[in-house]
Amino acid sequence: MDCCSSTNTGLVCPVSNSATMSVGIVTVREHALLPELPETSFGFCDAASCPVVYVGADGTLIDKAHVRTRVGVKETEDPIPVCYCFELTAVQIADDVRTHGQSTIRDYIQEQVRAGRCRCETTNPSGRCCLGNVGRVLSSVGAPAPSR
Ligand SMILES: [Zn+2]
Repeated sequence: MDCCSSTNTGLVCPVSNSATMSVGIVTVREHALLPELPETSFGFCDAASCPVVYVGADGTLIDKAHVRTRVGVKETEDPIPVCYCFELTAVQIADDVRTHGQSTIRDYIQEQVRAGRCRCETTNPSGRCCLGNVGRVLSSVGAPAPSR
């Protein structure tokens, strides 16, 4: 699976009632603090206020307390990880915009992604590329929209 693509799993998080995005077992294994994972497929719940991170097709729910990685979309206090591959937080991304008048970090990440240096599948608990979330942080601080 391409790290920047994601598909709707059809799995709905029973806590937030929101659709989850498909996430590979490799990713879940990397972040979940469970001795053993059930043989099932998982979805990632990215609802900000929901404590559930992974929803298993068999009904398994893995919440924040059982995930070793801070899930940026679910955190409201620093450090809020946004880009996991290059360890960039929401504050760093916002500061960069303030300093440069535009996001040099987004350009940097895009360059790294193009060069094939991102490892979202294992570093990011959603298993997806962080650029979508970087974009969210940028629009929340009023940064100019990407020119692409
Ligand atoms: Zn949820």
